[in-house]
Amino acid sequence: MKLKCLGSSSAGNCYLLTSNSGETLILDCGIPIKEIKKGLDWNIRNVVGCIVSHAHSDHSKSVEDFEAMGIQILAPYLGDSCKPINMGGFTVKPFDLTTIDGSWTHTNADGTPCPIYGFLITHKEMGRMLYITDCELIKWKFRDINYILLGVNYDKDLIDRDNTGKANHVFRGHLSIDTACDFVKANYSDNLQNVIMCHLSAENADSDSFIEKMKKVAGNANVDVAAAGKSWDLKNPSECPF
Ligand SMILES: [Zn+2]
Repeated sequence: MKLKCLGSSSAGNCYLLTSNSGETLILDCGIPIKEIKKGLDWNIRNVVGCIVSHAHSDHSKSVEDFEAMGIQILAPYLGDSCKPINMGGFTVKPFDLTTIDGSWTHTNADGTPCPIYGFLITHKEMGRMLYITDCELIKWKFRDINYILLGVNYDKDLIDRDNTGKANHVFRGHLSIDTACDFVKANYSDNLQNVIMCHLSAENADSDSFIEKMKKVAGNANVDVAAAGKSWDLKNPSECPF
C-alpha cells in the first residue's frame, strides 16, 4: 500500500491510497481535477472511490468532477450514511467530529459550525488507518491503529495574539500540536507504524518542532509531515513477512 500526498495546505488537500493491486482510494479532493488525474498517472479506471471530510473547497473542490465520472463518493456531510462501506478492497467507516454535546468541531470563516467527518480506513495490506483533519478536538478513541494521517494546524505559541480575530479563527476549528499529541498518546498501540501530520498552517506551524513533539508520544512509530509530492509505504504489521 502506498500513500501519496498531492496537496497538504489551505491551498488544497488530497491524498491517494493505492494498493499493491493498483486500486486507489482518494482522501479529500481539494485540488483541481487535472492535478489529481496527473497524480493518478491518468489511471482513473482504478479509482474505487473518493472520501470527503467536509464542504470547504480546499477539501472538496473536485467532488462534482468525480461524480460526473461515475466514481463513488463518500461525503457524510452531504448526507451519506456513517455505516461502514466497502470501496474496492478498502472498508471505510466515517465518524462525526463533534464534541460530547454534539457541536461540530470545525467552523466556517464567519464562525458558524461546519459539519465534518473523520474516517477509519481498513485494508488487508495496511491494517487500520485514521484520516482526521480540520477539527478542534477528537472525542473518539480507537483500538489497534496502524497509521494516523492527522491535520495538525497550529502551535499556540506561534500564534500572533495581537491579531485577535484571526487567532480566534485558528483556535476554533483546528487542531493544535498539543491536542494532536494528546490524541496520539491516547490511541497509541504497539502496532502504530506512522503518524503523518498534514495541513500545517503556513504561519502558525513549524514542521521540525511538530515532529519533535509528536515523536515523544508516538513510541517507535515514524513521524512525518505531509507535503505535495511525498509518499509513504504502508505495510500491515500483523502480516507475516515470511
Ligand atoms: Zn475546513
